Amino acid sequence: MRRLPAVSLMILLAFTLSISGCVKSGTPVDSTPEAASTAEKQVSIVTSFYPMYIMTLNITRDIPGVKVTNLTRPTTGCLHDYQLTPEDMKNLEGASIFVVNGAGMESFLDKAVKQQPDLKLVEASRGIPLIRGEEEEEDNPHVWVSISGAIQQVRNIGTQLAALDQGRADRYRANTEAYVKKLESLRDRMHQALDPAKTRDIVTFHEAFPYFAQEFKLNTVAVVEREPGSEPSAAELADTIETVKQSRVKALFAEPQYPAKAADTIARETGARVYILDPAVTGPLDPDAYINIMEANLKTLQEALN
Ligand SMILES: [Zn+2]
Repeated sequence: MRRLPAVSLMILLAFTLSISGCVKSGTPVDSTPEAASTAEKQVSIVTSFYPMYIMTLNITRDIPGVKVTNLTRPTTGCLHDYQLTPEDMKNLEGASIFVVNGAGMESFLDKAVKQQPDLKLVEASRGIPLIRGEEEEEDNPHVWVSISGAIQQVRNIGTQLAALDQGRADRYRANTEAYVKKLESLRDRMHQALDPAKTRDIVTFHEAFPYFAQEFKLNTVAVVEREPGSEPSAAELADTIETVKQSRVKALFAEPQYPAKAADTIARETGARVYILDPAVTGPLDPDAYINIMEANLKTLQEALN
């Protein structure tokens, strides 16, 4: 019973503060550890798919009070034609910030925003010049597959998070710079290794690699699987076999996320070899995963192009 006056005082104090409408952050009402740690508001960030998740993990690294969740499973891969499940919508409901790739990757975005108008969007591709897709009216959304594209996206996410969550702006900026430095060093290593390669013709899958090819001046002579997740038709396959034969391409690059059956058929018919090139759309939930995947791609390319 002796505690009652203190409790009512707290309620009164909280009431007064809420009426005055402005509680300065950093001046906790109570001095208990719980109250002190909740004085800075928690922020819940949801990312749309794997590459956005890895970038955001780096940008929010070791910042207290920030929770990052990935909306889709790390095995989902690209979100072309992906439809939100009721479980996804639930995950989004608890979030205050949604980090998306943009450039048309998240076709469900309009629907998600309509259902949750308070959700603040961070768009990784904002302001980045986009490459046109096979279908003329669509942009190619695979910006992160080039290292320069990834660097621009990381900067974009960092800047937008700092603007939306200003209390932690300095820490977002410091983490962004640290991660960008790592990516720049990766890009230098890749240029040093790939710039001297004599063979530059490659055949890839599902249009994930135009930004990568542009960055390292590789010449994509054919894309085997134009519709993501679907096997090419017999006519398309015959067409690609003809292209590969004519261009005398020696290296076919399949992706770990897609069946390599078509690539194996083309290899058998043309004598070219199948390698695995990873567009970093799936992988381990580790902040260094993107860099590790690209290091593995570099080894593959060195082997294939020399
Ligand atoms: Zn894709």
